[in-house]
Amino acid sequence: MPETSSGAGRYAPSPSGDLHFGNLRTALLAWLFARGTGRAFHLRVEDIDTQRSSAESAQRQIEDLLTLGLDFDGCVVHQSDRFPAYEQALTELPVYECYCSRREIREAAAAPHVTPGTYPGTCRDLTGAERARRREELAEEDRVPALRLRAGVTEWTVQDYFHGPYTGTVDDFVLRRGGRADQGRDWAYNLAVVVDDGHQGVDQVVRGDDLLSSAPRQAYLAHLLGLPEPGYVHVPLVLNDRGQRLAKRDGAVTLREMLADAPLAEIVGRLAASLGITGVRTAGELLEHFNPAELPREPFVWGSV
Ligand code: GLU
Repeated sequence: MPETSSGAGRYAPSPSGDLHFGNLRTALLAWLFARGTGRAFHLRVEDIDTQRSSAESAQRQIEDLLTLGLDFDGCVVHQSDRFPAYEQALTELPVYECYCSRREIREAAAAPHVTPGTYPGTCRDLTGAERARRREELAEEDRVPALRLRAGVTEWTVQDYFHGPYTGTVDDFVLRRGGRADQGRDWAYNLAVVVDDGHQGVDQVVRGDDLLSSAPRQAYLAHLLGLPEPGYVHVPLVLNDRGQRLAKRDGAVTLREMLADAPLAEIVGRLAASLGITGVRTAGELLEHFNPAELPREPFVWGSV
């Protein structure tokens, strides 16, 4: 069993549609790990992406999690209320303006010495005069620059319950996006998630293992902000029968769709069976039987229980 703590776990969905079996399974795991180790459990609505998020979707997600029997401590945090905190964090970090277009980044990143998927540092060491010129060029197109972290390391190691010590790349990642000057500039997920986990006292991050590679960047950022680095539990995803990540188009996969055909106890039973536990009908019963050491370490294939 992971260490007990008086800290907190959390579930942090993006409100862009109803939660499906894979999301529900990750939420359940986050709750089980938190409650099973004496932690508080918080919910955070990750609605920084204003184009794709909706308040209605957030409300439906919260209702679904409560229907499933997950309980939360404290108030629900909405990232759209947290912009001043992100602004404050920026003042505490070494940052520089980046004027690159996506195309420029793609082209520069294709150079042989650049680690794939990392920013090649094009704008890192520009002179004051070069910055002024690039800023002006962007302004002529009514655009503002992005802000990037001036990272002092190239990799960082996190501790993960399933993956052990995991070392991943840290580059000069974006903290605040650039874009049209007349539109709100988007905060980057990597910054928001770290500032909010710190704010909510989160010391245990349980989420899908598609996010494992972002953990070193986030833990490094936490370190720079003087926040404790959380312990991570990146859980295997639910896949469809073609080996792709489960999505809503895969059929009746949302809680509401599943409830049209089966009682809640049966759906909880299916979620539990996907975790290798049989014969339970509620989240509370599942918690009594929960033993992380016995959890499957392979992705779960939708429809196989
Ligand atoms: N909001 C992210 C998602 O829905 C999860 C972020 C996280 O758990 O750190 O995929």
